[in-house]
Amino acid sequence: MNRYRISEVKIGIFEDPEQALEKAIYKRLRKTAGRLPSGFAVSSYEIVRESVDARRKPQILRVYTIDIETAATLPLKESPDLTYRQLYAAEQPSAPPVVVGAGPCGLFCALILARGGLHPLLLERGRAMDDRIKDVERYWNEGILDESSNVQFGEGGAGTFSDGKLTTGIRDPRVRKVLEEFVAAGAEPSILYKQRPHLGTDRLRGIIPTIRREIEQLGGQVLFGEQVTEICTEGTGAERTVTGVRTAGGHLFAASSVVLAVGPCA
Ligand SMILES: Cc1cc2nc3c(=O)[nH]c(=O)nc-3n(C[C@H](O)[C@H](O)[C@H](O)COP(=O)(O)OP(=O)(O)OC[C@H]3O[C@@H](n4cnc5c(N)ncnc54)[C@H](O)[C@@H]3O)c2cc1C
Repeated sequence: MNRYRISEVKIGIFEDPEQALEKAIYKRLRKTAGRLPSGFAVSSYEIVRESVDARRKPQILRVYTIDIETAATLPLKESPDLTYRQLYAAEQPSAPPVVVGAGPCGLFCALILARGGLHPLLLERGRAMDDRIKDVERYWNEGILDESSNVQFGEGGAGTFSDGKLTTGIRDPRVRKVLEEFVAAGAEPSILYKQRPHLGTDRLRGIIPTIRREIEQLGGQVLFGEQVTEICTEGTGAERTVTGVRTAGGHLFAASSVVLAVGPCA
């Protein structure tokens, strides 16, 4: 099966995409690929991006980029292969990998490690979502700041109290993996192709703990209120290796490796 990416597939703003898109795809294909082979058929298609073109009012259009699958060979650009390939650990290290910070970076890192069978330990200085929400509300209502649990720090990281517009890194094609995980954890599937994907206010607060629970179900551990202050090592020079981390509360956690996902605000 061949997979091609076509852009500028247009339908009217009031047309139902489910009915109008297929016809528009064939129309666009005839324009870009020329004469289509006899018996040509698109076996399936997937919307990559949807935007609105209102430059020629009153004619307003929905404009799509679409990946099509077909048995035919066409003189078109193949769609990029962004398939995510999960790696699996061949053996368990003597100590877990430790991920520091439960923002998007650390959460996804721990999730991928957990799915690979590595039982990561995720350490976050702030508090879990429900407690964090109370801490943030207390700050907004009474002006009492918890320096470790606030709009910047805590489960979900710095953007958790935004209105859910997904802007950071959204042009990077690899972001699709992140969006797919959000959808699997309860987000609207349309975030996969909207030009300006929007989770909706408060949705992240439900999605993030769902991802955390998956890490835990896979044998990972997530600890809150643990601010890493020191990376412990042994050996010297090129032989120097990580052995663990120490936290502000004096706890020592053994580590086979350490990922610092502490964000830009730490
Ligand atoms: C107010 C605000 C609103 C935003 N709104 C949006 C938005 O609407 N859309 C968008 O796309 N992006 C938004 N962003 C940007 C987005 O939040 C960041 O790009 C993203 O959070 C970065 O992810 P990260 O995991 O790298 O870091 P962070 O999200 O900062 O996560 C780092 C985590 O590490 C923890 N940590 C730090 N130091 C330690 C330590 N020593 N030990 C243990 N834990 C530690 C912190 O508590 C934090 O939870 C916003 C950012 C802010 C600040």
